[in-house]
Amino acid sequence: MIPVQGYSGQKVAVLGLGRSGLATARALQAGGAVPLLWDDSPEARAKAEAEGFTCTDLTRNAAFEGVACLVTSPGIPHLYPQPNKVIARALELGVPVDNDIGLFFRSFATPGWDDFETAPRVICVTGSNGKSTTTALIHHILQVAGRPTQMAGNIGRGVLDIDPAQDGEVIVLELSSYQTDLARHLTPDVAVFTNLSPDHLDRHNGMGGYFAAKRRLFAEGGPDRAVVVVDEVEGRFLANQLGEGPQDDRVIRISSGQKLDEFGWSVFARKGFLAEWRKGRQIASIDLRAIAGLPGAHNHQNACAAYAATRSLGLAPKLIEQALHSFAGLPHRSQLVAERGGVRFVNDSKATNVDSAAKALQAFGQIRWIAGGMGKDGGIAALAPFLGSVVKAYLIGHSARDFALQLGDTPHEICETMERAVARAAAEAQAGEVVLLAPAAASFDQYPNFEKRGEDFTARVRALAGG
Ligand code: ADP
Repeated sequence: MIPVQGYSGQKVAVLGLGRSGLATARALQAGGAVPLLWDDSPEARAKAEAEGFTCTDLTRNAAFEGVACLVTSPGIPHLYPQPNKVIARALELGVPVDNDIGLFFRSFATPGWDDFETAPRVICVTGSNGKSTTTALIHHILQVAGRPTQMAGNIGRGVLDIDPAQDGEVIVLELSSYQTDLARHLTPDVAVFTNLSPDHLDRHNGMGGYFAAKRRLFAEGGPDRAVVVVDEVEGRFLANQLGEGPQDDRVIRISSGQKLDEFGWSVFARKGFLAEWRKGRQIASIDLRAIAGLPGAHNHQNACAAYAATRSLGLAPKLIEQALHSFAGLPHRSQLVAERGGVRFVNDSKATNVDSAAKALQAFGQIRWIAGGMGKDGGIAALAPFLGSVVKAYLIGHSARDFALQLGDTPHEICETMERAVARAAAEAQAGEVVLLAPAAASFDQYPNFEKRGEDFTARVRALAGG
C-alpha cells in the first residue's frame, strides 16, 4: 500500500466505496488522515463497515465542515451529464476534489528514495483503445527484462494498493479519461497516448471534453518522454504541441501503417514489421507477423507503443523482441479460444465500441461475426467500410434489430442470445473461417460486464459437440 501523504490529522471525504474507494480509505488512514466515507449504496457501505470503517452521510448539509479534500471514484460523474450531488456541494464550497491517481502521485516519492541509485519511475498509458493491452505488454517486457515492476490503475489493482517502489522500479499505470480528468497531481515520467475514438461522450460532453481529459496526462506535469500514436489528427496535434519541432526526441511518434522516418525518434509498423528510427537512421527492426499474442494492425500499434516506452527506459531491442514473443495476450481481446475443423473462435468481447470492433474486423479474413448488446450512439453505421470480410453476422442483445437495419447487403440473422449465435455460427462456418465475437456494443443488457460476456462465449464454444 502507498500511505497517502499530506493529510495527516485532517479529514478527507471519500465518495464511492468500490475497489478503489476502499483502497483509498485504507491508504488515507495509513497516512494518518481521517477518512469520512460515503456511498449511496447500502451494500457498499456495509462492506466498508465490515472492514471497521464508519460511514458519514456526505449528502448532509454540514458534512463538509473541516474537510480538506473530497476523493471520488471514476464511475461517479463530476461534471457531465451532471455532477453528483456530493461533488456539486464540494465544488460550491471550494473543497478540492481529487481521485486516487492524484493521491498516488503526491505520495509516491518517499524519503527512502535517498538511498536508491535509480529513482522509481511511472509509465502511464491512456487512449480510447489498446490501453490495457499496451499496459500489460509494457509490464510484461519489464518483467522479462528482470526489472522490478508493478502494474495498476484501470487494469488490475488500484494505484494505492501497490507496494512502495523499490530501487529502480517501474510502475505501469493504465489511466482512463475519467481518471486523468480529475487527478490534481499527474506527473508520469513516460506518458503513452494510443488513439482517440468516440466513447464515454456523455461524461465529457462530447469529443472536445474527452480529448481534453486525456491530454491532461501530458500537460500537467510534462513527462520526460511522450509516446504518441499519430495515426489520427488528435495524436498529431498532441505530438505537435509537445515538441519543439520534428527532430525533438522527447516525443516518440508511433504509427501502424505510416512510414515515419523524418523525426527525431519514431517507431512504426508496416507490412508486419516494426521499425525504430532515430534522427534519420533505422536502429532496429522486428518481424511482428509471427507473434501469436498480438494479431492485427491494431496490436502492432500497441506493440510499437510498448516498444517505444520500454526503449525510452534503455531496454535493448533484442530483449524487447524476445518479450513480445512470450506475451500471451489478454483475455477478451483478440483471444483465440478454440480451433475446431479448421474454424478459429476468437473472443474480442472487449470490442465494446465501433472503433475496436472495426480493428477486430480488419484483423481477420473470412468472418462469422457475433455482434450486438447495448449499442452506442450511431449504432454500427461507421462499420460499413469493414464489412467486406464478414461472411455473415449473428446478432444478439438489445441492439440486434437496429444493427440488422445498418448491415445493408451483409447476410445476417437475429439470434438474440449468445447460445444461439454460437450454435448457428459454428454450424455454418467453413474451414478457414473465423467465428469472431466483437460486439461493437456494451454488455449491460445481458451481462454484468464484458468479461462475463466473453466467458459465456468461450464456455459455449468449448461446449460445442466435438469441441
Ligand atoms: P482499453 O483498455 O483501452 O479498452 P484493450 O487493450 O482492452 O484497450 O482493448 C480494447 C478493445 O480494443 C479490444 O477489442 C481490442 O481488441 C481493441 N484494440 C486493442 N488495441 C487497439 C488499438 N491500438 N486500436 C484500436 N483497437 C484496439
